[in-house]
Amino acid sequence: MNEYDSARMADVLAPLGYTPTDTVGDADLAILNTCHIREKAAEKVFSELGRLRLVKEARAARGETMMLAVAGCVAQAEGAEILRRAPYVDAVLGPQTYHRLPEVIARAVRGAGGVLETDFCVEEKFDALPAAQNPAHPSAFLTIQEGCDKFCTFCVVPYTRGAEYSRPVAAVLAEARGLVERGAREITVLGQNVNAYRGDEDGEPVALAGLLRRLAGLPGLARLRYTTSHPRDMSDDLIAAHAEVAELAPFVHLPAQSGSDRILAAMNRRHGTSEYKACIDRLRGARPDIAVSSDFIVGFPGESDSDFAATLDLVRAVEYAQAYSFKYSPRPGTPAAELPRQVPEALKTERLAELQALLGEQQAAFNQSCAGRTFDVLFDRPGRHDGQVVGRSPYMQAVHMDGGAELLGEMARVEIVAGHANSLAGRIAGTARRAPDVRGAA
Ligand code: SAH
Ligand code: SF4
Repeated sequence: MNEYDSARMADVLAPLGYTPTDTVGDADLAILNTCHIREKAAEKVFSELGRLRLVKEARAARGETMMLAVAGCVAQAEGAEILRRAPYVDAVLGPQTYHRLPEVIARAVRGAGGVLETDFCVEEKFDALPAAQNPAHPSAFLTIQEGCDKFCTFCVVPYTRGAEYSRPVAAVLAEARGLVERGAREITVLGQNVNAYRGDEDGEPVALAGLLRRLAGLPGLARLRYTTSHPRDMSDDLIAAHAEVAELAPFVHLPAQSGSDRILAAMNRRHGTSEYKACIDRLRGARPDIAVSSDFIVGFPGESDSDFAATLDLVRAVEYAQAYSFKYSPRPGTPAAELPRQVPEALKTERLAELQALLGEQQAAFNQSCAGRTFDVLFDRPGRHDGQVVGRSPYMQAVHMDGGAELLGEMARVEIVAGHANSLAGRIAGTARRAPDVRGAA
């Protein structure tokens, strides 16, 4: 979501004459887009700011200015603290205020001292963001939903991103059409709780399944994904869409967090392991070749050896194609941070290593099982060596192959010749249902 937000900030700034640079020393304006989900991410902000301060001072010594802004969820949660600890920061913007960037910059230029802008105006934001002009990434992101009303006890998202908001269907379709016209072949629709999407079209409610069906009809769009889903919102119509919408990738990221019902209740996840497993069974019933990924947290307060063993059992039962796993990180202001029986760091580290070893085995086994299959691969970057390209399989695996730059931005049929721990090797098997070229057709 931050990647999407950064791209939209660039769109807002383009009419003012700003263009992105890869060299921070050349920047008239540096925006640090931040994440507050775990302490480690939040901590990085101040060390990164320290580095940017040196760049700003070096530019000042050359008679050049550099404005420094902090955006994202750390800005939302700790804006005043940032301005206090890092007074050389010119502006701090929460995630719902990016459309006000030009005004914030103007205020920072005029005034002395940092500008703090952390209101919640998500609806206004999307209405006010300009249409993008730059070429789109072949695999593009599109935020359709923001915020969260679920209040899992470990999570800061409801506080930093605010209440759930779904963008109207027409706005999403218009943005998707623009992305395809500018070169996107695949779109991942994003939301903190994307399957809680409740858009409307002519006053009628449209859920995620309905939106995906509409998006699948866009000429030129070859593949669709959505992330992140909550198990509670995995509706029958969304599961049916997996059986019926050919463009929908056979892959779902469905965070489980824990395999212990006791811990799930303490996390306020509002489902148990049996509901979670039933959800996976329904998905596999609709689309037998579907692969599943997840997020896990180890060391939630009160997690015992047997709770952790239950997480390993769940992983063995589901068999994941990939998964992310984290040590529980107490976030200020969340209920779990105040709970007794916090798990010692060393035990968290031990459990994380054990879980990651199991998940790593499952990922390697899944990758190996792909050898001999033929996939639609979307090539989006050159390989490390000349004459190589890298793309993504329907299951998000990186696929390395010998091939020329003409493949970049295209989807092709690829035969998988080997599955490794973290990637696949392939060779061209022919041209895929290549999407008609609609670039520039607007
Ligand atoms: N809305 C998604 C998750 C969004 S946050 C869901 O409900 O599943 C992304 C992931 O970060 C979460 O799935 C969780 O595994 C992890 N996470 C969130 N807060 C955390 C915390 N305090 N400590 C460790 N991991 C956390
Ligand atoms: Fe955070 Fe996801 Fe829970 Fe919302 S549903 S509070 S985003 S973990």
